[in-house]
Amino acid sequence: MGLSGLDIFKKLPKTNCKECNFPTCLAFAMKLAAGQASLDDCPYVTDEVRAELAEASAPPIRGVTVGVGDEAFKVGEELVLFRHEKTFFNPAVLSVVVSDDMDDAKVDELLKQVNECEHERVGVILKVGAVTVKSASGDAGKFKALIEKVKDATKKPMILMSEDVDVMKAGVEAAGDSRPLLYAATEANADAMGALAKEKDLPLAAKAADLDKLAELSDKLTGMGLKDLILDPAPRQAGQTFKDLVALRRAALNEKFVAFGYPTITFPCEETDDELYETALAGMYTCKYGGIVNLSHAEAWRMYPLLVLGLNIYTDPQRPMAVDSKFYEIGTPDENSPVLVTTNFSLTYFIVSGEIEGSKIPAWLGVVDVDGQSVLTAWAAGKFVPEVIAKFINTSGIADKVKHRKLVIPGYVAQISGELEEELPDWEIVIGTREAADIPSFLRQLSS
Ligand code: SF4
Repeated sequence: MGLSGLDIFKKLPKTNCKECNFPTCLAFAMKLAAGQASLDDCPYVTDEVRAELAEASAPPIRGVTVGVGDEAFKVGEELVLFRHEKTFFNPAVLSVVVSDDMDDAKVDELLKQVNECEHERVGVILKVGAVTVKSASGDAGKFKALIEKVKDATKKPMILMSEDVDVMKAGVEAAGDSRPLLYAATEANADAMGALAKEKDLPLAAKAADLDKLAELSDKLTGMGLKDLILDPAPRQAGQTFKDLVALRRAALNEKFVAFGYPTITFPCEETDDELYETALAGMYTCKYGGIVNLSHAEAWRMYPLLVLGLNIYTDPQRPMAVDSKFYEIGTPDENSPVLVTTNFSLTYFIVSGEIEGSKIPAWLGVVDVDGQSVLTAWAAGKFVPEVIAKFINTSGIADKVKHRKLVIPGYVAQISGELEEELPDWEIVIGTREAADIPSFLRQLSS
């Protein structure tokens, strides 16, 4: 971080176009210098300047990628302590631990849970991010066999877990070109484990009993030329883990302490035998500041809330999740199908479209662009109002697709029906339900 905000500013286009979401190039430069913005947010920086600013614009917490292909994940690259300051970028990854001292049935059950864990929410697919393959026996043959089994069962990235370098070598061989994370280098094995990670160009976790030792280990490994590190402060006691994670994030962001400028890994599954408490700890580490969170199981009851929590925490608070503004075909609607309108807030769209789908009555669902706000919020902000809805209907082409002229509006904005009828004199405005759950019965009545 050798450049000041003014140094960076001199190299920016100085057009104050605001596309980076900052009011001026100077404001953007200051944030960049403070590690609270990404150079990628300015689309007008030339390649030459980008190269010059590379060091100054590098995120204070390095991004580390594990795995290959569609299932690969990246952790790190965070710029702020609190998501409302900007946003968090790379969601905490949930990983499930399988061990070579488990019987086959247990491993099969866990891998089944991993593969079956897939939930769609607001158009985003939420799933388990990785499988942690643990050598509990210390037997290289058993470790290899378990890795082969995991590879056959899933394409999820793997975290190979052994502090024995010979066992790890066998694991790396079995993992092939799947780019696993090696867990872990310690004070005792750092030279050999670091050399293995360097030779194979693999990410490596560093584990130490306290933060001082972790800083020393991190420095040692980077001194060996390793770049993709993940840190485990490893107290295995929830309160201390939490304090350590906060201290690591603060040191990296506020103090620019390079030894801690890496994502973290946590093991709530090793901090308790109580499955509810383990899940609660995983939630805590998802919020602050676990990069990878290891779990003992992946049943739906624990994964769904954890995954939704991660989605919420890592959604940009300054950019509402929105879907495109247009008419959506729910089912296979025809010229007699009902026509409904709502707003382009993702959650609203997916809840409403889900209820229409569940009703088994095909419909046309019009989504009005209100900057991603919900129905009432958009109405209160003067965005989901008669003239905007009328303009949307008149330009959408929906009148050519249906024979009737009935338009269903959300029950929460019943008060606009009169004014909307004036704006759309050819249409009859029908007041729909206030709650999405009542849509199926409403549609059945409307169609009868
Ligand atoms: S996007 Fe680039 S040019 Fe535009 S205001 Fe931001 S820094 Fe300046």
